[in-house]
Amino acid sequence: MNEDALKGYKGEARNTLEKFGVRVWSDAEVTTSRGLFKGIILPRSENDDDQHIVLKLATGYNVGLDINTIENMIERGYKEAHYKIPEKEFPTSPDKPNVKLLGTGGTIASRLDYRTGAVIPAFSPGELYGAVPELADICNLSTEKLFAVFSENMGPKQYLKLAEAIGEEIEKGIHGIIIGHGTDTMHHTAGALSFMVQNSPIPIVMVGSQRSSDRPSSDAALNLIHAATAAAHSDIAEVMVCMFGPTSDEYGLLHRGTRVRKMHSSYRSTFRTLGDIPLAMITRDKITPLRRDYNRRRKDRNVKVLPFFEEKVTLLYYYPNMQPDIIDAIVDCGYRGIIIAGTGLGHVNKPVYPAIERAVKAGVVIYMTVQTLWGYVHMYVYDTGRDLMAKGIIPTENMLPEVAYVKLGWALGQTEDPEEVKRLMLTPVCGEITEREPYNGYLVYQGGIPEIEAFLKRFHR
Ligand code: ASP
Repeated sequence: MNEDALKGYKGEARNTLEKFGVRVWSDAEVTTSRGLFKGIILPRSENDDDQHIVLKLATGYNVGLDINTIENMIERGYKEAHYKIPEKEFPTSPDKPNVKLLGTGGTIASRLDYRTGAVIPAFSPGELYGAVPELADICNLSTEKLFAVFSENMGPKQYLKLAEAIGEEIEKGIHGIIIGHGTDTMHHTAGALSFMVQNSPIPIVMVGSQRSSDRPSSDAALNLIHAATAAAHSDIAEVMVCMFGPTSDEYGLLHRGTRVRKMHSSYRSTFRTLGDIPLAMITRDKITPLRRDYNRRRKDRNVKVLPFFEEKVTLLYYYPNMQPDIIDAIVDCGYRGIIIAGTGLGHVNKPVYPAIERAVKAGVVIYMTVQTLWGYVHMYVYDTGRDLMAKGIIPTENMLPEVAYVKLGWALGQTEDPEEVKRLMLTPVCGEITEREPYNGYLVYQGGIPEIEAFLKRFHR
């Protein structure tokens, strides 16, 4: 059997396929000690173990069969052709807005064919059109792959390149931008871009998918449709994240880039606007703003790109019994800025005080955020807070810890002057510090918890 026919399989799993003469992409019947399974043999990633063979069942779900349970395998057909995303020419029309999709990677870039459930990359406009033809009803789409990484590998270098690419597209006259991105760190990148790309005249919409499109519950296609609609037609000219609102596919939400955070490791409705309410609800054919205080779309091209980032900045999540050596080590490693995610209103324990003093004396700037995520830093309430401020720690109101981290990197990338850094940090650019938090922000409009959905529906219909 040739190499390619057993794509990705190795060791004992490979031997099993060879023994029964069954290829990847074949339609197979597998007799196991747990019963009979019928489905398509899927390719296996290089990093997976050699103890399982993965089958896509007719229901669309994948099962991993333990090779030790396999008694027999028969190839009934071969369906590779069905798993190719048909590359069709993306139809363009002069009356549709032009949208650019900048790809960075993540699940959304690697698996997109929601009709056939294929597990293959799709990226060119033609492939995207083949997979999600609805896109052509929304806009004229062009694409550019900037990176192909899972989002834990995104960082300052990628933020700078993205910001510059966005600036160039805007200057060239594009009507909207979509950024395909892994969901895990999408909120870091959204924060960084909110500071690096200011005064955008067009929507900049980040989108990802929580479930790969080889699963029937994939959110990839609908998120992409929503993101294209937002990029092409919304009048919100800001950096936003567009993802599922509730767990169902009823609507998506547009979140402001500085107030959004991934909050669940697997729910499709994982993104939440924290400390505020989202910008808008979005369905296939309608954008419903939930607030009015956003930057409007404009015809000019006067975008301000500020691509700066100091990498020697860190985010320190406080835990009880933290020792001062941690802070000393950060200073010794040459870090210039620390964001602390403190407890409650913004606290750390007394044993770290001397290390904080040493850090401040060494010229390291230290800012406080809250690990509660909702609410404000209030350092006047307890003596701990007052002590910490006296030592030079600066509270950041209701800035989210990750947002404060990227903002401090951005600020220190521009200036060495601590007063100027402070001015930049405490001057809101795009909603990262707000005057007050809406009392109903978390519960209203953000759905995602079935019981709350059901409860709200009684009032909302
Ligand atoms: N680990 C992936 C990433 O963040 C998950 C995703 O794409 O949603 O890149």
